[in-house]
Amino acid sequence: MMLDAFAPTPPEWTRQAIHAYDRFCCPKCGASSLEAVQVWINRRSPVLGEDRRRKWQEFYLCHCSCAWWAWSSDRPPTVVKINC
Ligand SMILES: [Zn+2]
Repeated sequence: MMLDAFAPTPPEWTRQAIHAYDRFCCPKCGASSLEAVQVWINRRSPVLGEDRRRKWQEFYLCHCSCAWWAWSSDRPPTVVKINC
């Protein structure tokens, strides 16, 4: 299946996404965003963060079938191995 992270319309699975607000990983099983089976980034509605940098919602569909999202500004650098 083709992954289209920048599709203009949100995929169906994003509608039930949970906000992962304390850690940047699946709130159910703790898997990192790098292990997600699908990704969708809401580039259409960026928000200005406290530091005046734009941030947007990143949606992840985990392999445990849990959908979650978090702010792009909360994402740790991808070079770092995430162990939540
Ligand atoms: Zn999970």
